[in-house]
Amino acid sequence: MRVPAASLALVLLLSCSSERPPEPDGPNVLLLSLDSVRADHMGTSVQARADGPDVRITPAFDRLAREGALFENAVSTTSWTLPSHVAMVTGLPDALHGVVDNAMSIDPALETLAELLRRGGWRTGGFYSGPYLNPLFGFSQGFDHYENCGSEVPFEVFETNELGRWKDIHQLSHETVTSRDLYESSARWIRKRAHDGERFFAMVHWWDPHYDYVAPAEQNALFDTGYRGDWTGVRGSDRRQEVFPADVAHVRSLYCAEIRYTDDHIARLLELLDELDLERDTLVIVTSDHGEEFYERDRWGHQRTLFDEVLAIPLVVKLPGRVPAGARVRGQARIQDIYATIADLTGLDVPDYVSAKSLRALWEDPEHPGFEQPLSLVVPHREIDWSGLRTLESKILWDHVAKEGSFWNLGRDPEEYTARTFGEEDLLTSEHPAIGALREWLDSAPRLRREVPSTPNRQPFEIDAGLRMELESLGYLDSEDDG
Ligand SMILES: [Zn+2]
Repeated sequence: MRVPAASLALVLLLSCSSERPPEPDGPNVLLLSLDSVRADHMGTSVQARADGPDVRITPAFDRLAREGALFENAVSTTSWTLPSHVAMVTGLPDALHGVVDNAMSIDPALETLAELLRRGGWRTGGFYSGPYLNPLFGFSQGFDHYENCGSEVPFEVFETNELGRWKDIHQLSHETVTSRDLYESSARWIRKRAHDGERFFAMVHWWDPHYDYVAPAEQNALFDTGYRGDWTGVRGSDRRQEVFPADVAHVRSLYCAEIRYTDDHIARLLELLDELDLERDTLVIVTSDHGEEFYERDRWGHQRTLFDEVLAIPLVVKLPGRVPAGARVRGQARIQDIYATIADLTGLDVPDYVSAKSLRALWEDPEHPGFEQPLSLVVPHREIDWSGLRTLESKILWDHVAKEGSFWNLGRDPEEYTARTFGEEDLLTSEHPAIGALREWLDSAPRLRREVPSTPNRQPFEIDAGLRMELESLGYLDSEDDG
């Protein structure tokens, strides 16, 4: 922080008080999470029509990739919002933070990213727009200011939950356009911090790219394929038996428009940093929580598989003078490593139990293979309970229900079309390196979980009627409304 000389004595005096947090000695931090954005849809362009121009999907992300490091192999822990965001803000994989299903929340005994930075003296502001970032799940922990910029479904809509009103709820949850409000609220808060000369950590969760795909006309026009069919970006239109390539291309173009609309607001936030003269002194990280399926395996959505279309995430890290501009990083980066990277670049120590690693090692050593990612997907109403590991070269999963394993060699089969399967006997005895690594992880995870602090006798919280309806309408509870 720049402190006028005249007030230095006062600052030193005040810093002796045990109540006052320390003066931060590191950059501001802006962490932006775009919900459901595939790695291969950021930092690239598409040609919507054969005779049309190439259109960049994410000009603001492109700018960050020129000014910072782009991670070409970044992965989440899973394929849905709640556990992956918990991994991002606690520095732990799902098996260790334990928030793997609905009605679970971040244990208050864990030090979240916001708590870590607040401990260092940063002011902390969180801005969210999707139901899983609700404070009920523990995400407000550590924030001085935590604001919902998404749809608040009015209570009377839930009270009169007749069939005819289902569409109202559906539309409120999905169709609200939130990027503008997210920008305005976060920009107002950042402006105030700059005015008051305070270091800040701002986290913004952007919901618009999550289905439904209902971007404004201006962005839709950029990616218009000239489609003449009857599919729209609203879920429920995708129930036909037969799917044609033009339908998929159209739905994908509507998704691109949502990403572009969000990126346009990220551009405005970057311009704000320029205007406030904070650009060189702010760590900016842009990522996503998981990807999205576009009928690659006859399915839409996410939270059904752990294939790379839902597991790979975009990731860019920019801090002038500290992170090399224009670096392209090949080593595998994990969503939870964002926690340790922010701690590293702000000079803060991570708690002992945090297994995440700073990604600095990857941009400093181009040969670094990155870090092995523990995977998890638990969806009881679909009888899914999987654990696994992903490295740059391979992915291995164990199905706890079917008692069967699957292995993919990603070097030879990057699209994951051919799995080698194995049974319990192999899991216990095989000398295959990937099966051995999985066996070791499954053996050690319970012990590692016991080493993570936890609050004794914590009960799962009750999801109230309003939140339940919102999550159901998104297909996350026992509804099959997932395409
Ligand atoms: Zn999500």
